[in-house]
Amino acid sequence: MIRKLLRRAINVLRRDPTSASEPAAIPLARHGIHREAISSGARRTCETLQQDGFKAYVVGGAVRDLIAGIAPKDYDIATDATPDQVRALFRRSRIIGRRFQIVHVMQGGETLEVSTFRAAHDADTQKDEHGRVLRDNVWGSLADDAARRDFTINALYYDPVAETVLDYHHGVADLKQKTLRIIGDPRTRYREDPVRMLRAVRLSAKLGLSIDPAARTPIREMAGLMENVPVARVFDEMLKLLCSGHAVDAVHRLRDEGLHHGLLPLLDVILEQPMGEKFVMLALASTDERVRLGKPTSPGFLFATLLWHEVLADWEARKQQGEVPIPALFQAMDAVLDQQAEKLAITRRISGDIKDIWSLQPRFDKRTGKTALRLLEQPRFRAGYDFLLLRAQSGEVEMELADWWTRFQAVDGDERMAMLLPENKNKRRRGGRRSGVKAQEGKVPAVESGE
Ligand code: ATP
Ligand code: MG
Repeated sequence: MIRKLLRRAINVLRRDPTSASEPAAIPLARHGIHREAISSGARRTCETLQQDGFKAYVVGGAVRDLIAGIAPKDYDIATDATPDQVRALFRRSRIIGRRFQIVHVMQGGETLEVSTFRAAHDADTQKDEHGRVLRDNVWGSLADDAARRDFTINALYYDPVAETVLDYHHGVADLKQKTLRIIGDPRTRYREDPVRMLRAVRLSAKLGLSIDPAARTPIREMAGLMENVPVARVFDEMLKLLCSGHAVDAVHRLRDEGLHHGLLPLLDVILEQPMGEKFVMLALASTDERVRLGKPTSPGFLFATLLWHEVLADWEARKQQGEVPIPALFQAMDAVLDQQAEKLAITRRISGDIKDIWSLQPRFDKRTGKTALRLLEQPRFRAGYDFLLLRAQSGEVEMELADWWTRFQAVDGDERMAMLLPENKNKRRRGGRRSGVKAQEGKVPAVESGE
């Protein structure tokens, strides 16, 4: 009993970031990262800095991912050299960032982000009225740099010369035990930066970890703090979550933690309406599949799917008020995007892509002569067609319509021409169920083929 208590006390001490000034040096046999496994640019950058007498390590997500057997997206380097000293060592480099300077070092086709060790804030740090840290720009020691990071698995420093991992907070053990543990007191860390709650969910889904109860319990009660975070940061983090290849799992986890409200515009509303949920989940599953296959994903497509059922509802309301269908669709698109602009930092380029995909949808109803052939020539045809497939799979439109387009683009010449519906037949098919679109209990409008 006493031994158990003692062990627990020692563990608590070991987890206290302020007491972790001596790191464990984890050998190659345990962490498994050979220097050849990291990118040549990351390796060269560390070597150059070390040859000049500086400390330099690969840090953060890349080390974590390598130990977990995942190919890193990019490499961050941490060093005790100041930005000016880094800049002086690499001809192809530039200092970026105003609030906290970092250096972008170009090596071949790679860009490495090199940051000087930073300390967590102190009592004088500027915070907002909810405790969110507004500025944290003090340089510090390697131990300080480790303590200011969010999770133990993100505070690992890989030295490619010595092939060791410096571990201040038992991150390697946590990673091997598949546990996501926060550094320091979870409530304090979430108050300083509520985005850490979202990161906890995102990283636990990405790496298949369970969130340590101490880090998990406060999320539900503190979720409201997310409202206080600048829109652009939430958007960046959500985009990462949705494009992680584990979006379905991550969204389920967001719901389990009660964190989905107000995160993405109306994500909660969409997920509560069965047709919308089915559509969004199918879209996320297909995005996950693309990421796994190494295919590119487009944020435009993703957000077009997330907001589609909002557009459908708005469009339907306008048509019921007697508006002409196609102009009403464009009005609905603008209304939904404007409404989201407050919550989402959707760039102009992304919103252009979203509108392209949406506005193509009614055109898939026209299976006659020139109209159908012209749609095939559209630069965004492929995205529009992929979107149509999801609509069919979710039950919003007849599968027969999607199948027709699948076949229409696959066949050529005479066979394609033979598939076209006669002009007059199409005219008779205008509107209603026979246009190939199912009306769903008055909630989802039938897409009409009239202009
Ligand atoms: P990904 O692989 O998805 O990029 P990541 O952990 O590398 O995940 P980044 O946003 O690239 O995420 O952050 C790099 C590192 O910076 C993290 O590993 C972590 O050490 C630190 N970090 C990022 N965001 C925070 C935060 N909100 N609070 C504390 N440390 C953070
Ligand atoms: Mg990263």
